[in-house]
Amino acid sequence: MRAFFFLLARNRLALAGGIVLLVVVILALITPLLPLADPDVTNTSNRFQPILSDGALLGTDHLGRDLLSRLMWGTRLSLAVGFAAAIVAATIGAAIGIVAGYYGGRSDNIIMRGVDMLMAFPYILLALAIVAALGPGLMNALIAVAAVNVPFFARNIRGITVGIANKEFVDAARLAGLSDSRIILSEILPNVIPVIVIAMSTTIGWMILETAGLSFLGLGSQPPQADLGSMLGEARSALITNPHTSIVPGMMILVIVMSINLLGDGVRDALDPRLKSGALSRPMAATRVDRAEAPPPATGTGLLEVRALQTQFHVKNRIYRAVGGVDLHVEKGECLGIIGESGSGKSVTALSIMGLVASPPGVVTGGAAYYDGEDLIGAPYRRLRDMRGRNVSYIFQDPLATLHPLYRVGDQLIEAIRAHRPIGKAEGREKAVELLKAVRIPNAEKRISDYPHEMSGGMRQRVGIAMALANDPDIIIADEPTTALDVTVQAQVLTILDDLRRSRGLAIVFITHDFGVVAQLCDRVAVMYAGRIVEEGRTTDILDAPRHPYTARLMACVPELGGGKRRLEAIPGLPPVVDKLPDGCAFADRCDRVQPDCRAGEIALHKVGSQAVRCLHPVDSKEAAE
Ligand code: ADP
Ligand code: MG
Repeated sequence: MRAFFFLLARNRLALAGGIVLLVVVILALITPLLPLADPDVTNTSNRFQPILSDGALLGTDHLGRDLLSRLMWGTRLSLAVGFAAAIVAATIGAAIGIVAGYYGGRSDNIIMRGVDMLMAFPYILLALAIVAALGPGLMNALIAVAAVNVPFFARNIRGITVGIANKEFVDAARLAGLSDSRIILSEILPNVIPVIVIAMSTTIGWMILETAGLSFLGLGSQPPQADLGSMLGEARSALITNPHTSIVPGMMILVIVMSINLLGDGVRDALDPRLKSGALSRPMAATRVDRAEAPPPATGTGLLEVRALQTQFHVKNRIYRAVGGVDLHVEKGECLGIIGESGSGKSVTALSIMGLVASPPGVVTGGAAYYDGEDLIGAPYRRLRDMRGRNVSYIFQDPLATLHPLYRVGDQLIEAIRAHRPIGKAEGREKAVELLKAVRIPNAEKRISDYPHEMSGGMRQRVGIAMALANDPDIIIADEPTTALDVTVQAQVLTILDDLRRSRGLAIVFITHDFGVVAQLCDRVAVMYAGRIVEEGRTTDILDAPRHPYTARLMACVPELGGGKRRLEAIPGLPPVVDKLPDGCAFADRCDRVQPDCRAGEIALHKVGSQAVRCLHPVDSKEAAE
């Protein structure tokens, strides 16, 4: 709740709207207590007094009634009717929408066709018809305005409910034996309420206007009772001669509707959880770069060389150092593994290379990434776009999230190819089939016209790999591509990647948290912890004798088939939060070999045996070999 008000207050316009509305509402509430003239007493000898005249601050109308008093009482009435209509419309509309969306099928059809019939009329015509049938009067105007807004709420809420009613947690509730009404109240409603509030906050202003419209036409509040619409209606004949009689209520309607709409927009933005993380503020096309100067490439560069890369997230006034100076290099045809616990910065490192970290909040604050000698960090966007997919391509963890659900996989593959090469449809199709065959999708000619949801997880991941291969890249960066797959499918996917590497000379950067996968696929491995590389070397060396205590502990967590019984040692504690990294070794708090000097300051990556280790008290080779 505090976060909600904080977000709302940060939106200046919404804040201004909220304050104005609050003032208006308070004035309307205390109107009976104010020393105002009676709004309905006529005094025809005192007609059309101008603004700021004696005894009438805002002048008088055509019957000599005090305009200020009528304005206050009228505002009170208009607000009350508008809010009441909104609440009635929202309640009934939401109930209809939830029932239709939850039960679906025939009830949905019947209800929604009824709603459609209501929507087929222009709403003001419909409201007029309702009032004509019920007879003029404020109460009937309220009913009419509420009724014409019910379809809007019903449609909106039905759409949301349909999405929620098919979610797994609703199925779970059903399996647990809950009744439909319990499910609606405890599972559906809490998810729908924010949407109802948002829809209400953005339509109240509209309903106040509609009520005023009916009153303006003489169908709402009846004389002598004032509401804003009827004040406008009565002032119409004096619009030219005495404009202040129209301007006074007109300005009030403007102020109310504008402040409600500004506040409503603010509420909508603040209630949307995705906006809290800044995810909906559109990210830039490439990650923002803000670095002093690029470190030169080291000698003997590989195909891809990352030097002292630093990537941070600037969220509000916090700085998260997700990547704190990472060096990596990959040769042609080589497979480099990056391993570490969740949150150690593996993905951010991988995404930084091609400028794919979302900005805001991501910023590359230092380092360089040389591809074939060309620095990619800070390269112009056009250049990066040209190289994405063609030189360096990515495979992500969840292929269901990266494939478009509404296009056939073949069309998506062809699109990926045509992004970089001007080829015809038929040729694209041929190439797509070829790619699917390369990743060993059986019956590729048929599968090419499948939708993503028609494929299993393993198949989809193969499509993901095929897409990464579409433009014959030199490097594939695979970010936990097998984590979502079961072990047999994982083994198949790894074999495919390994074969592709050998047959096409691909370099692979393989990100994982699984030492088994590293052992199977990678030539070299870099171990990451809290945004830094803590150990790097050839896979066989590190598997034989891990030197960094973190690597050793990580490997002790992996069970061995046929390795006899032994305790699997989980690493106690959690990785540090990257906005408050400790001095010295980030692993010190969880390490059983920690010494006072570990916390004293920066520890460099230095050679221990055949690998590079960032540790002052590395595991020695005898211990390590055990
Ligand atoms: P992993 O090694 O599991 O791939 P990541 O590279 O995704 O880890 O994340 C590294 C760190 O960066 C984590 O501590 C994470 O909390 C932080 N991080 C990632 N994305 C964001 C973001 N958009 N805003 C703030 N922090 C982020
Ligand atoms: Mg990750």
